[in-house]
Amino acid sequence: MKVLSVMTHSAEETRIVGAALAPNLLPGDVVSLSGDLGAGKTVFVQGLCAALGVEDRVLSPTFTIVHEYEGRFPIIHLDIYRLDSFQEVLDLGFEEFLDPSSVVLVEWGEAIGPLLPRRFLEVELRQPGVSDPEDHRALTFRPHGAEWIAKVQSMRETAETLLAAASEVATTETRFFVTDEPQAPPGRGRISETGTDSG
Ligand code: ADP
Ligand code: MG
Repeated sequence: MKVLSVMTHSAEETRIVGAALAPNLLPGDVVSLSGDLGAGKTVFVQGLCAALGVEDRVLSPTFTIVHEYEGRFPIIHLDIYRLDSFQEVLDLGFEEFLDPSSVVLVEWGEAIGPLLPRRFLEVELRQPGVSDPEDHRALTFRPHGAEWIAKVQSMRETAETLLAAASEVATTETRFFVTDEPQAPPGRGRISETGTDSG
């Protein structure tokens, strides 16, 4: 599986990368965000939602668990940090949220891996190590499903342009790294059907 990583140097740059994903999203898409508290999951979602035309303030739904916004299409923003079990997530109506007319963004999505659809985008944010600048974050994009590989590639091109335009200093330093990660072990998610229903 091809995995894309990008290093951001400020919250604003993480918003820009989030914004770069927006043009590639369609109703029905699911994005799972992982990373510790303060990693920048909500900051990423803010950039993404603004670029989808959301005018409301986007805040972490840590206590309310779910926020809904109207942008170019309906957006459901979940934060399941406070939920303790799959059952609680199901009781919340998780399966109804996975609705083909909405984009679903899940903070701490890795905690409910088995409830996620087979095709989704996983975004992992990592805080810097002790010797790195405090405002640096490593964002890793793991596409699950062929269409997500194309969407991530397109996001990268947009993000490169937007980051260069926002940068005050000309830089030739590359922020993007593509790596190969091993396939998921046999038995789970290996048999993929090619959908014919997505036009
Ligand atoms: P999470 O939702 O993962 O708990 P938040 O997005 O709410 O985290 O908070 C991230 C915090 O880190 C914000 O205060 C933000 O300003 C700060 N920050 C500093 N540098 C970055 C960066 N490169 N990307 C994202 N956030 C950053
Ligand atoms: Mg958050």
